Amino acid sequence: MQYFIEVIIPLSLPKTFTYRVSESEFNFIKKGMRIAVPFGKSKIYTALIIDLHQTPPALYEAKEIHQILDEKPIVNEYQINHWFWIASYYMCNIGDVYRGALPSALLLESETIISQNTATFVDETLLTDDEFLIYEALQHQSSLKIESIIAILNKKTVLPVIQKLIQSNIITLQEEIQEEYKPKLIRYIRLHEEYHQEENLIALLDSLKSEKRKNVVLQYFQLQAQEKKPISVKQLTEKAQSSVAIVKALVEKGIFEEYYIQEDRVNFEKNKVDTALILSEAQQKAFEEIKNSLKDKEVTLLHGVTSSGKTEIYTKLIEEYIAKGQQVLYLLPEIALTTQLVSRLTAHFGNKVSVFHSKYSNNERVEVWNNVNQHSDTSQIVIGARSALFLPFSNLGLIIVDEEHEQTFKQQDPAPRYHARDAAIVLANAHQAKVVLGSATPSIETYYNASIGKYGLVTLTERFGKVAMPEMELVDLKDSYFRKKMKGHFSITLIENITEAFANDEQVILFQNRRGFSPVLECMSCGHVPQCPQCDVSLTYHKYKNQLRCHYCGYSMAKPTNCHVCSSIDLETKGFGTEQIELELAELFPQKNIKRMDQDTTRGKYSFEKIIDGFKNREIDVLVGTQMLAKGLDFDNVSLVGIMNADNMLYHPDFRAFERSFQMMTQVAGRSGRAEKRGKVIIQTYNPLHNIIQQVTNNDYEGMFKEQLYERKIYYYPPFYRVIRLTLKHRDFDKLKEGSMWLYQVMQQNLTIPVLGPEEPAIGRIRNEYIRTIMIKIPSETSLQGTKKTIQKILNSFDLVSQYRAIKVTVNVDF
Ligand code: ADP
Ligand code: ZN
Ligand code: ZN
Repeated sequence: MQYFIEVIIPLSLPKTFTYRVSESEFNFIKKGMRIAVPFGKSKIYTALIIDLHQTPPALYEAKEIHQILDEKPIVNEYQINHWFWIASYYMCNIGDVYRGALPSALLLESETIISQNTATFVDETLLTDDEFLIYEALQHQSSLKIESIIAILNKKTVLPVIQKLIQSNIITLQEEIQEEYKPKLIRYIRLHEEYHQEENLIALLDSLKSEKRKNVVLQYFQLQAQEKKPISVKQLTEKAQSSVAIVKALVEKGIFEEYYIQEDRVNFEKNKVDTALILSEAQQKAFEEIKNSLKDKEVTLLHGVTSSGKTEIYTKLIEEYIAKGQQVLYLLPEIALTTQLVSRLTAHFGNKVSVFHSKYSNNERVEVWNNVNQHSDTSQIVIGARSALFLPFSNLGLIIVDEEHEQTFKQQDPAPRYHARDAAIVLANAHQAKVVLGSATPSIETYYNASIGKYGLVTLTERFGKVAMPEMELVDLKDSYFRKKMKGHFSITLIENITEAFANDEQVILFQNRRGFSPVLECMSCGHVPQCPQCDVSLTYHKYKNQLRCHYCGYSMAKPTNCHVCSSIDLETKGFGTEQIELELAELFPQKNIKRMDQDTTRGKYSFEKIIDGFKNREIDVLVGTQMLAKGLDFDNVSLVGIMNADNMLYHPDFRAFERSFQMMTQVAGRSGRAEKRGKVIIQTYNPLHNIIQQVTNNDYEGMFKEQLYERKIYYYPPFYRVIRLTLKHRDFDKLKEGSMWLYQVMQQNLTIPVLGPEEPAIGRIRNEYIRTIMIKIPSETSLQGTKKTIQKILNSFDLVSQYRAIKVTVNVDF
């Protein structure tokens, strides 16, 4: 008798593999356990068992396994089925899904990992073939195991190459970076020790001339008497109806001391403030409607305006599902940007919540994995970004997809290029669980599904506390420049409104969808614009570092003083980014504390949280930022949001550009006036009559939806057509051109549906690789699976054409 197992290997391979096991191993093994197996040339991988059988493979001699790694399965059948669905639907390899699904500690324990040293600029032409392959692989994965390098180079003797790359600073060896989950720092205040003695205290109170300051100190005592707890700056300023500045002055005088307390990472129990949640009438109605809708629909959309309190409704729903003993998955676009929401939920549910966080260390992620697998109490509710979808749920009752319109739910690179919202619906189906999608600005696809009755639809048009939607004002930039009603990039209207907000002690958010100082540095004599040497884009000027930087590959150079072409010194910047807004603002309001939130200022470990906390604690008066600002932040003192330039979003060459502009502006606008007071939004634009701008201003989601849906219909886009994009990349321009033409023609001949391209995308070269895309549009009446099969067949034969072998092709379904 022979015994075999079928396994998935964590590599980008389309097939499963067969290994030989002994009879006793066979009797011990269960599907979903991991084993170490030799693969390729004496390499060891952590494989996943998906089947046991007695059929030897036809094409090769089955190898024996090295060892069994688990006592019990760590992956269940729901997952395995779901992963195969992902591989098939998103046209990627099952090995890609497996690799993406498991925390890396479960795949590759305690082994050396290398990553690229991004600080070094690499001249690829100087690399040998082997070095280039390693370097290139690191462009697609942030780090690589030496084991994978052996596989990539297809030889065992890789160490000298790696050694050389390290010496030349191109790569670094890294032990796994144990990044601890950032504890939230809250600023507290206490009386300086000196004043614990009564006489000193009395002397102090006498010495305080300012009534305001005296009041703050007295209020502090009152609070202390009531609470017997640390007192936060925020609490104190609210109680004393005072400002942060006064508290600051008292700290500077040595009367108060500041200190910080960290919120505990894993134990949420102690922050659990039992807030018996009471829904407003409108929320209660929506809640009942959702429950009703879920009786006969698998999926229901909650379309609730910003600040309508959708989170509270989800919370009520979650309570019902966990009461039934079922698991709940709460998907968010990006955990780092939603720490506020996470703390709200953990405060409510205490230790029933696990957070699956990309910033958690590997070990912590494994812990959550195991807890979910064991159906432990601490993971009845899992909050996570898209990858939480891969956890070993066995009893899911409800999946919530919050901010379902967010594009970060779609993974771009590497494969699997799945859409977490859509994959969640499929997963829920397998568990016979329900799905609630929530958004103030639903995606066209989702709203369409709701409008044709495929999904249920519940609408909530009232903000919590019946706060009015913010007042919108458009500023016509053309007119303002013409009438000289501009200071730099600020219209007088915007400046006046900022001034007014400051006078009321309120905070301001300014949105500019571009980082850096300005995107173009142009020579006024010859028109030359410095370009990235590796990508087809102009370099962005960063004033603080006095650098020109490429936002696609990270290349940077010092800002030139002369034009590289004609040597003229007459260089001018064009366009503007967050940096420039910040600087202009600092000149307009020199006493105000201005902070910038974009990729450049949030790179550091705790930088994001520091900015958010600073703004929440009202130490920061104005936050200038990119789309990071649009994501679920909830501030209670922001009365004004300014959109510096609404136009640059509108003109992206993307069929979703209008939809996304609407979503972005509406979401940013929604940050205004969230507590009790109506907020204001000022939109600066050259196109005040543009339909999207008008729809944002009038809060007219329906109007936007109808118009975009019509466009989608006549131009053959989702939801009427499915779209698949093939991206081809190669370093040789002509070869790529030829290869993509070949592929396009074969697709065109074999598919009876629209095939478009091969197109050079707006940025036709990145990191020295030229890019071409081919788009395939599949009408709803055409078989999706059949079409994908044909596409895959053609791709396989493309791979066999020897001169095109080196061209990399990636497939992106529903991009
Ligand atoms: P949305 O996600 O719909 O934009 P949120 O859930 O962030 O809205 O709610 C907006 C604000 O209103 C939050 O500060 C939240 O705490 C508060 N809020 C909403 N509903 C309630 C409720 N039922 N009781 C108390 N506070 C609520
Ligand atoms: Zn010049
Ligand atoms: Zn570049």
